[in-house]
Amino acid sequence: MFVGLSAMAAATARTGAGLLRVFSQQLFQAHDVRNGSRRSINTMFKAADLQIEISKHPKEKPDSSKLLFGKSFSDHMLTIEWSAEKGWDKPLIKPLQNLSLHPASSALHYSIELFEGMKAFRGIDNKIRMFRPDLNMERMHRSALRACLPGFDKEELMECIRKLIEVDREWVPYSDTASLYIRPTFIGTEPSLGVSRANHALLFVIIGPVGPYFATGSFNPVSLLADPNFVRAWKGGVGDCKMGGNYGPTIYVQNEAQKQGCQQVLWLYGDKHELTEVGTMNIFIYWKNEQGEVELLTPPLDGTILPGVTRQSLLDLAHQWNYHIPTMENGPELAKRFLKELTDIQYGRTPSNWTRLVI
Ligand SMILES: *Cc1c(COP(=O)(O)O)cnc(C)c1O
Repeated sequence: MFVGLSAMAAATARTGAGLLRVFSQQLFQAHDVRNGSRRSINTMFKAADLQIEISKHPKEKPDSSKLLFGKSFSDHMLTIEWSAEKGWDKPLIKPLQNLSLHPASSALHYSIELFEGMKAFRGIDNKIRMFRPDLNMERMHRSALRACLPGFDKEELMECIRKLIEVDREWVPYSDTASLYIRPTFIGTEPSLGVSRANHALLFVIIGPVGPYFATGSFNPVSLLADPNFVRAWKGGVGDCKMGGNYGPTIYVQNEAQKQGCQQVLWLYGDKHELTEVGTMNIFIYWKNEQGEVELLTPPLDGTILPGVTRQSLLDLAHQWNYHIPTMENGPELAKRFLKELTDIQYGRTPSNWTRLVI
């Protein structure tokens, strides 16, 4: 059952990727044609060109046992500007500071905006590792093309981010329950109101320490609001891209859930009310089916699901463990086994090629 499911998910993923490749090639060609006509355009930025300005006013670091998500930021940020005229500018690491944007900027009016979420961990050996950042770079690049923002060299961006973390390495918590959250962001800064491709854009990355997603060892049940009147994403839409426009409208629904005593929203889709995601998380179902077999299920990547790195990692582990999943094991125990394996890799207790060394 398990094998069948993984194979099915893999087949779905492959079909999706096939379509995607055709699509991104078309976009690429459009860029190439345009960029090819002007030889001075910088089509890629390089980490080797990084300019670094160190902050003269380093901040005090928060207590790593009291971290709230997304409230604390490190001393520095990475910025890289792009324009259709000149292409990519040199990447800069500079003190964290406000942006200066024209009030007509397309990100503010038409949500030409996308982001990523990834983490770096301080291992038990004191080395700092990013977890599968190549998958985040891949996803970010895909979102950028869908937003008609320019492509970039994913390895170069990853190296710029590595350098940023190296500069702010003391901000990576000395803890095996906290980590450094990394928020790459890409916005259209076109200073005009036409609904069209942005000719100016800014890619920036901010980072900051965060606590554990789950309080240690707790697998407490949560109640979910499942109301088919609300839809997060739809076929043909951009639910599979991490674009800001997907998230603003969900806050109202999350508030509704809380009003009704629920912690999260279970997003449904279509006439059959199919399960898609929970809040901003992918969902796995672990149950005994009508034949009495134990199954692990997750919705396929049909365009309405955000292709999560965690989702992919659980599928990869489940596939790898295949014959080792004791069928009598109960749900929380399987979830705990997943969590243990992932955190062992993230905190360097288990060596893995899923991590990328920062320093
Ligand atoms: C970011 C996100 C996820 C999880 O992605 P990971 O790569 O596992 O962090 C899942 N669903 C939605 C809607 C998301 O925005």
